Amino acid sequence: MSPSSQPPSKTGIRVLVVGAGFAGLTAAIECHRKGHSVTLLEKFPELKLLGDIISFGPNSSRIFKRWPGVAEQLDALSQRADGLEIKNWQGETLLKQTWTEEQDEFGTRFDGHRGEFHEIVYKHALEIGVHVRLGARAEDYFENDDEAGVVLEDGERITADVVLAAEGVRSRGRKIVLGYDDKPKASGYAVYRVWFDAAEIAKDPDLRFFTDNGDKHVAWLGPDVHFIAASVKNGKDFSWVCTHKDEEDIEESWSFEAPLSDARKVLEGWDPVVQKILDKTPSPLIDWKLVYRDPLPTWISAHRRIALIGDSAHPFLPTSIQGASQAMEDGATMAVCLSRAASAQEAVAAFEAIRYERVRSAQKTGEQTRDIWHKADFSAAKNDPQSLRLRREAWLLNFDAETYAEAHYEETARVLRANPDRGIFGDTARARKLHVPEGKEGYIEYNGEPGDIAKASARAVEVEHVEQVSV
Ligand SMILES: Cc1cc2nc3c(=O)[nH]c(=O)nc-3n(C[C@H](O)[C@H](O)[C@H](O)COP(=O)(O)OP(=O)(O)OC[C@H]3O[C@@H](n4cnc5c(N)ncnc54)[C@H](O)[C@@H]3O)c2cc1C
Repeated sequence: MSPSSQPPSKTGIRVLVVGAGFAGLTAAIECHRKGHSVTLLEKFPELKLLGDIISFGPNSSRIFKRWPGVAEQLDALSQRADGLEIKNWQGETLLKQTWTEEQDEFGTRFDGHRGEFHEIVYKHALEIGVHVRLGARAEDYFENDDEAGVVLEDGERITADVVLAAEGVRSRGRKIVLGYDDKPKASGYAVYRVWFDAAEIAKDPDLRFFTDNGDKHVAWLGPDVHFIAASVKNGKDFSWVCTHKDEEDIEESWSFEAPLSDARKVLEGWDPVVQKILDKTPSPLIDWKLVYRDPLPTWISAHRRIALIGDSAHPFLPTSIQGASQAMEDGATMAVCLSRAASAQEAVAAFEAIRYERVRSAQKTGEQTRDIWHKADFSAAKNDPQSLRLRREAWLLNFDAETYAEAHYEETARVLRANPDRGIFGDTARARKLHVPEGKEGYIEYNGEPGDIAKASARAVEVEHVEQVSV
């Protein structure tokens, strides 16, 4: 019997996960694998194939590979281009970045349709026996020193030893953790995105290179805009994304539609191949507004029983190509911490300490790539095309979250125990410093100010107090 399908021995730790995206599903599956008792809540009443292209780097592929049969199913639906061709907006090829070495050194990645991948992982969770409740929307969170929980729309209260808020960028869990409503800010950018059958692409002699010999991946860079097109499933499907400036003040949403003509305006005068792709593209597109959020000073609640994970804690720019991978690493790390800790509260503190600096460094890579691509000096880039390549660094990609957490749990817990915060494990600011990725100096906006964390915790306690009084 495979490791994941064996009934795990029970640890007795009750984990409530809110949100069945990749963060929540990974946390639920990994906690179940470690023998914790898991309930997963999802507000959607049924599963739908939502989204378009999504990427999982070698760091998260390692997590999938521990789940029997899952990597094989993802592989069958994955984009298998051997590299990324980078062109300027006029169509001149500047660089062909290949993936062969990376794959040999770091392992496979899976790029494909978000909805199709999600369905595979969701079904795996059900198969191994994760208790999932669909149509269960968490309205509010609560905690004390002994337990934590959520209140559902109909007033039902569900309690657990630990609650993991994995509800994505609009997380309600943020309020109890931060002590205030964290409002998203417009980033000034949005992404047009679309996924469709490649049959029409295959008919055009100028586009056939996308479908004739396996999958292809091509990026066109222009001033403050980039356009990336990919054929998927051996040229059967086609997807493109276009990150562009966006001045409108609207909310982040997956259902927001934009007519194809909007993208035509942004890409006017670009390479005739891009124009031909637009001619074959069905309208409307999704226009995904990229909102910006300041890095949170903390991801964990005052009583150390609620943790934000995935996009709830740390939304990523698409140019990092790491949002989903880091969400999965959170889940794998939390499951280890809960197994190793002397208490649930220590586990929550250790989780944040282990993850915080790594995630911040990963987020920075997205900002760097966006700036390099959108502000490229194309005449200089001709002499130094490597300056445009996507950074594919070992510290980020050749990483195994489960092994790392196992190896570093004890030293992290020692620092937490030596630095109790209001008597609760622990002051994570000091423990975070153990986990600054090699070669990264860390990010001083919060590292230098452990007081910010204390302030956030104090605010959380205040809000909790106000809410209790007003009920
Ligand atoms: C519908 C959808 C489509 C997406 N499509 C793409 C894509 O095409 N490409 C891409 O790169 N990224 C896409 N993303 C984002 C991407 O999946 C995430 O950035 C990344 O995987 C991190 O996942 P997450 O689990 O932290 O958050 P999310 O993927 O946002 O998952 C959060 C989950 O929590 C649920 N939820 C929210 N609030 C509550 C609540 N109060 N109670 C219970 N459940 C709740 C949501 O329904 C959702 O299932 C999409 C996200 C969603 C939700």
